[in-house]
Amino acid sequence: MSKIAGIYWDDTAAAPGISLSVYFSGCHFHCPGCHNPEAWDFNYGQDFSFEIIKEIIDKLNKNGVKRSLSILGGEPLCDENLIAVQALIDWCKQTYPDLVIYVWTGYTLEELKARKLSIIDHILSQITCLIDGRFEIDKRDTTLPLRGSSNQRIIKLNDIK
Ligand code: SF4
Repeated sequence: MSKIAGIYWDDTAAAPGISLSVYFSGCHFHCPGCHNPEAWDFNYGQDFSFEIIKEIIDKLNKNGVKRSLSILGGEPLCDENLIAVQALIDWCKQTYPDLVIYVWTGYTLEELKARKLSIIDHILSQITCLIDGRFEIDKRDTTLPLRGSSNQRIIKLNDIK
């Protein structure tokens, strides 16, 4: 079962505007200088559950404020977290079809596609923007929006409705 390292209900740092940010636990990449090494551990944090999905759905538009959904880690798109990430995205989009979703992953888009998994193709078809690639400390740049190092890319996958 996937674990959640943390949730920020009103996050103004991860993405443009206000985002509800969900950090999945577990990452195999172990990039030197990673900003979130405690989330490398797949057993870190609380269990992912349907109750958490329901709470996220309740709070995405709380007080009439339309939030985006940010999915980070750890590594949300490793094999261990794919089912949970798909469930989170599908349930949220069922309630909010125009939900803007950002996903941060250490995989490049090419690496994701090369895995040839229908669940990954489905996730990529549902999200608005992918921020891809491992953090590379020699390419660290704190001035870049949404990214920690210049090798990482912001890839718009689907239009904002
Ligand atoms: S892929 Fe992301 S979470 Fe994983 S070690 Fe690299 S920077 Fe940290």
